[in-house]
Amino acid sequence: MARPETKYIVIHCSQTRPSQDIGAKDIDRWHRERGWLKIGYGKVIRRNGEVEQGREDNAIQAHVKGYNHCSYGLCLVGGALEEDWKKPEDNFTAEQWEALKKTLEELLLKYPDAQIVGHYMLDEAKTCPNFNVREYLLNEDVKGYKFQDGLTDEADLQEMELEDQS
Ligand SMILES: [Zn+2]
Repeated sequence: MARPETKYIVIHCSQTRPSQDIGAKDIDRWHRERGWLKIGYGKVIRRNGEVEQGREDNAIQAHVKGYNHCSYGLCLVGGALEEDWKKPEDNFTAEQWEALKKTLEELLLKYPDAQIVGHYMLDEAKTCPNFNVREYLLNEDVKGYKFQDGLTDEADLQEMELEDQS
């Protein structure tokens, strides 16, 4: 079934140990074991930065309670402490950060008005994806992203100054 709208692009993590080299196929199996149709995320970013397709981009995905009809989900593999997978840790690889930015920019071409959020921003009970997504967006120049929550970045400020001058 096609998703009627895409208000959010939601970043998740798999909450697996950094040494676990899993991908979309493994997550697909886990989600089917839970009784789901198939993998709930649209994209999976492996430890080596490889981006794998999960559920179809425009389908209703299954990744965040109450928002599946209006959001896209992508998942970074990792995010758990090696010694205890229940504990969150920001341990994504340089290749994953690079792939995340590229994937977000590609998704914004498709869904230009979407807000990028972390799972924890839509569900207070979660820490997923185990890093601060607002801070990430302020520090990274994700092309095509429009801040919609009162936060602005350097480029926005420069644009405002230009508008004032004209
Ligand atoms: Zn999540």
